[in-house]
Amino acid sequence: MVSRRFSGVKESATLKMGKLAKELRAQGKPVVDFTLGEPDFDTPSHICEAAKRALDEGRTHYTQAAGIPELRGEIAARLGEEYGLDVRADDVLVTPGAKHAIYEAFMATLDAGDAVILVEPAWVSYAAAAQLASGEVVWTKRFADRGEKVTYECLEKVFTPKAKLIVINSPNNPVGYVLSKKELEEVAEFAKDKDLLVLSDEIYSKIIYGREHICFATLEGMAERTILVDGFSKTYAMTGWRIGYAVAPPEILNAMLKVQQHSVTCATSFAQFGALAALRDERSRESLREMVAEFRRRRDLIVEGLQKLGLHCERPEGAFYVFVNVETAGMDGMTFAEKSLRELYVATTPGSAFGPSCSGYVRFSYATSTESIKEGLQRLERMLEGV
Ligand code: PMP
Ligand code: GLU
Repeated sequence: MVSRRFSGVKESATLKMGKLAKELRAQGKPVVDFTLGEPDFDTPSHICEAAKRALDEGRTHYTQAAGIPELRGEIAARLGEEYGLDVRADDVLVTPGAKHAIYEAFMATLDAGDAVILVEPAWVSYAAAAQLASGEVVWTKRFADRGEKVTYECLEKVFTPKAKLIVINSPNNPVGYVLSKKELEEVAEFAKDKDLLVLSDEIYSKIIYGREHICFATLEGMAERTILVDGFSKTYAMTGWRIGYAVAPPEILNAMLKVQQHSVTCATSFAQFGALAALRDERSRESLREMVAEFRRRRDLIVEGLQKLGLHCERPEGAFYVFVNVETAGMDGMTFAEKSLRELYVATTPGSAFGPSCSGYVRFSYATSTESIKEGLQRLERMLEGV
């Protein structure tokens, strides 16, 4: 009964593990939850107030499908100020979450059998969304042991004439790496040489620790090849509001808009007014600064704690995840995740969800309190002593 497109499309592992953790907690189990990547901070109150005002003022109707002009304009102005990107309101599409922007991008650009190049390990929804849009996925294997993130060479190795698009994600989920100018330039050169589009998922652009975020579309010749995706979920602790956005060359943006018109119409009206306040109100900067400083402290805590347990991970430079190699503990990622959940109520996401050669890994989201991180590490110590 279900379409052939679904064969091989798996349930979202992040959402599945997040649900399981919440269900166990509801049953009274003392769960330490390292599953979902969502800030555990409340949305700043001035943003909530703006949305409440919008409701009181009757902003409860459909908006323009592409989003309210003020928000599109403000996003364009920010991209100009922060990165020097030359965009106007019309170049911006406001979507119900960055996730839907990614889905729309694949729907807009892929024909059946076209391939999307993903850099392993990659966030769980890229492959599924590409498949839902009738695309195929090719995985590059990066050589983390050589300190590499993404190179011309690793892209070249997997290139197929069917390739239409490369996805990059910096700061990265699940590893937390940040791509340098040189690394981004290699992707740009490859995209030019092979005539590919690049979907640059920059949702963690503001959750970054002492590194500079470079917007891929600012690289020479890339504006006309790039679908830039970002959103409000992470930067302003607004995951439930479902507001993201995309900037893309006009023909592609227009096709994405059609997907939006015929699927969801527009992003939620009053949520868009909240997002507008997130950008316009100075107080957002301070909330963001505090949140990032706190994530940084937690990163240090979890990386150090895991190292003491003999577990290796790269030190994240952005986002709020660690991708941990658990093979040293004599387990694969799935066994580790199941065992720690069953025996200790420590919930994580198995690495296999992030790519075909990630089965030796487990992802921890440290968007959770310091106390939870300490408690989780103590419980893991007990489990690993018993191995
Ligand atoms: N990209 C990445 C890498 C993510 O981790 C997420 C998860 N929130 C998204 C996109 C989607 O974010 P949202 O739909 O909440 O804007
Ligand atoms: N992106 C977050 C994560 O990776 C939230 C869940 C999801 O959308 O996948 O955990």
